[in-house]
Formats: sequence, structure tokens, C-alpha cells
Amino acid sequence: MNTGYLIDMDGVIYRENHLIDGAREFVQALMGTGAPFLFLTNNSAPTPEDLAVRLKHLGIGGLSARHFYTSAMNTADFLSEMHPNCTVFAIGEGGLLTALHERKIASDSIDPSYVVVGEGTATLERLSKAHECIEKGARLLATNPDNWCPVSSDKTRPGAGAMAAFLEASTGRRAYYLGKPNGYMFQRARQKLIESSMGKPDQFVMIGDTMETDIRGGIEAGMLTYLVLSGSTQLENVGEYVYQPSRILTSVADLAEEIITGKPSDRLNSPVYTNHPSPNSKSGVRHQTDILTLHKPRPRPAMTK
Ligand SMILES: [Mg+2]
Repeated sequence: MNTGYLIDMDGVIYRENHLIDGAREFVQALMGTGAPFLFLTNNSAPTPEDLAVRLKHLGIGGLSARHFYTSAMNTADFLSEMHPNCTVFAIGEGGLLTALHERKIASDSIDPSYVVVGEGTATLERLSKAHECIEKGARLLATNPDNWCPVSSDKTRPGAGAMAAFLEASTGRRAYYLGKPNGYMFQRARQKLIESSMGKPDQFVMIGDTMETDIRGGIEAGMLTYLVLSGSTQLENVGEYVYQPSRILTSVADLAEEIITGKPSDRLNSPVYTNHPSPNSKSGVRHQTDILTLHKPRPRPAMTK
């Protein structure tokens, strides 16, 4: 069975500036066996080159830009397919600006077709300009729906979803959210993986730590989904969701041996799998992309549905 792997990064490969135990061996197993894989991240701030350098500094070498697909690249792919020759006013970092530039999408602060909101520092001046552009008719896109992103185990920062929510509130328009769990992200990632593989994979696996983005998107794209507990999801919260992962793993360390031998790891007998999550568990944990809680009746109809 030729399996293609789509792999989330934060909470799966690293946490803050630390590699997760076993992540290096996992990536080495993928590279050593020639298994097709692609890192799939909702972080639109870095370029794929930045991500390769970051992993190298963390101890995983041998990767290049072709191993990464970000929500910024997905947004640029979406715009160049849907609306060639469009112009954008973008709020974001190098990863988003580079991706738009590579697709020859022009920057426009006078009368853009779209306002695109990505991860990074947004100033009130930029948000005010974006607000004006939307009032003039620009459509609102966000690279990803994450309202917040982890910075450390006890600290978060506002994400692109929160910035888009700001503009939704100020303009009464609805944003369209790319990145995981949007099917367009998975469709493009699958296509990229197929193009870079020697033979077409028979099955695809999405490995991630976030139920609302990685697992939901993978399921909706018809993939197998492996939830790892090394990131944002606690085992006791899994039962709260209507969708469930194909497998729950302690971390990607559980997969290294399995990829090399082709046999399911006996680490799957760990206590993780005998503790079935309680459907009644209440956590109070903020879901990272729980945008429905922010959606109040708007004075004007949504421009994007
Ligand atoms: Mg993650």
C-alpha cells in the first residue's frame, strides 16, 4: 500500500522551539523509505523556505521548499484559479506576500478585488485601510480560520481568524476562510503530493493535533486521519466532536517504526487506546476555529458563502 502523508507541523513536529520526541525519527523514516509526504500548515506567515530552515535548526535536515504547503500558498492558488488578474490588499507577513507575488497577483491599496487577511501583526492603520477597501466592494478572504494560535503551553496569540472577525464586525461582510479545514486546501495538497510522488498513492493520511482543522478537513476530503496528542487536543475532549479520527496516537513517534516495517506499531497498545473519551466530558477549552460563536446577525448579507 503506497500511503501519502499530509502532516501538520505545530503540535505534531514541534512545540514552541522544541522538537517533539520522535519527530526526527518519524521524518527520517519517511525520507528513508521514499514515502510521499507534505507538511501542511495553516500558518501563513512563513515561506516554505523559512519552514525548511526552521526544521533544520530544530534538527531535521534534508527538507526543501517542495515539502511544504501553507495556507498562504493555498490562498494564492485559489485566487489565481478563481480570479486571474485580480488585485489584493493584503494584511500579512512574508509567506503571504511571497505567495501572492509568485502567482503574479498585484498589490492594490486603492480599489482591490480582495482584502486578504493572514497571520501576523496587523496594525490599526492596515485594518482601517482594509475596512475602507471592503466598503468600496473588495471581497474578504482569510488565509485560515484560526482565531488564536499557540505560542507556548500557557500562551496564545491572535490568529488570522480573529483579524478577519474584526473586519467582519466592522463591515458587516462575511469572510471566506481558506486553509484547513477548507476542502480546497486538501484538494491542492493532495494534487501536489501526487505530482511529487513516483507512483500515485493508494491512500492519504492526514496527521494533526487539532480536531477542527486537521481531523475535520481530512475526514471531509475522504482521507484517513491520525490525531496526535502532542499538541492542542486532550484525549478527554475528543468525544465532544461529531467527527472522530481514524486513529489516536501519543505522537508521531508511534509511526516511525510502522513506516519502516510496514507493520502497525505495537505502541498502539498503549493506554491511550483503551481510554475511550467520554462523550459527556466538558472542558471549557476554546476551540481554535469556533467561528460560529462569533457569528451574530449582520446588517448586510454575506458576500461569500
Ligand atoms: Mg497543529
